[in-house]
Amino acid sequence: MSILFLDLKASYFELKDELDAAYYRVMNSGWYILGEEVEAFEAEFALYCESKHCIGVGNGLEALHLILRAMGIGQGDEVIVPSNTYIASWLAVSYTGAIPVPVEPDENTYNIDPALIEGAITPRTKAILAVHLYGQPADMDRINEVAQKHGLKVIEDSAQAHGSRYKGRRAGNLGDAAGFSFYPGKNLGAFGDGGAITTDDEVLAARIRMLRNYGSSVKYHNDEKGYNSRLDELQAAMLRVKLKHLDKWNERRKHLAELYYKGLSELDVVVPSVPAWADPVWHLYVVRHNNRDELQKHLTKVGVNTLIHYPIPPHLQPAYREFNISNDAFPLAARISSQILSLPMGSHISEVDINSVSDAISSFARNWHAS
Ligand SMILES: *Cc1c(COP(=O)(O)O)cnc(C)c1O
Repeated sequence: MSILFLDLKASYFELKDELDAAYYRVMNSGWYILGEEVEAFEAEFALYCESKHCIGVGNGLEALHLILRAMGIGQGDEVIVPSNTYIASWLAVSYTGAIPVPVEPDENTYNIDPALIEGAITPRTKAILAVHLYGQPADMDRINEVAQKHGLKVIEDSAQAHGSRYKGRRAGNLGDAAGFSFYPGKNLGAFGDGGAITTDDEVLAARIRMLRNYGSSVKYHNDEKGYNSRLDELQAAMLRVKLKHLDKWNERRKHLAELYYKGLSELDVVVPSVPAWADPVWHLYVVRHNNRDELQKHLTKVGVNTLIHYPIPPHLQPAYREFNISNDAFPLAARISSQILSLPMGSHISEVDINSVSDAISSFARNWHAS
């Protein structure tokens, strides 16, 4: 048995004719940066996210950074972030000169616990950066309520949540602005790096548009010290093709998640729990086991590829040693990171393979209890 964690070639072969045509269209156009393809993709993705504006940028990390910069967040400010997210959520804050302030997740959803946010707010707090981790939306009404009470901005890290819904509303339209990544492995992935920002705020959108292009809205006139962070025409053309298939692919992931649930919910692994108001897009299917390392070894031995998202929380990374955060300061993030395991998930995995993974976990559980 050999079950890939994710098959990145599958979407190319599924849509080869359309993607090749898009490639030739851009190559023949002679226009490769900020042109018709990016403009069209921005309009289509804004519509998809039920958001007024979309700005294509270089990648997901820069999307988050540009939002924070455009909001005027910087040196001396604090931004609340989850303690158990991918390090990019923290880096975006650090790039502005502001301090990321971690808050622990809810143990069942892995998303930031709204009840703990208020305790982390200080006079320097400017924003809450909520992450829709693994494709499941964070509890945005409660987060927005705390933000409103304290006059804070709310940013969604939607890098894992293209298409997911919270109480019927799309990720990307649940706060003041959202950052998306089109890294190849995301639910909507390019064939290289890419990212986008969605927002209903026209002034913010205009400022981000300027910042992504050297701080310039009229060529060679620079109002601010901006950046070079642009989605390119080729990636935009590829994304336009793939966007039309995203809902279908997300439905497929949902079906596979249901199969996993059927196969695993009676075993001694903790399966993901989905609140009634959440419609997740299953970027990752993450289970928990108190002997995770042995389980992962067993699965590797029988040919099932798994990954860990993420093995070390940001506050315990050498990159953040300057904060001197002790090992037990965020025990939930630390414990979760030692127990989680991401199982193969993607729109191109077969039902047979999902059932084989469940069987392999079941056989591990039996041996585990017997020994
Ligand atoms: C992928 C990811 C990012 C960063 O996106 P890039 O395009 O790789 O820069 C940020 N936050 C989260 C939660 C991610 O999963």
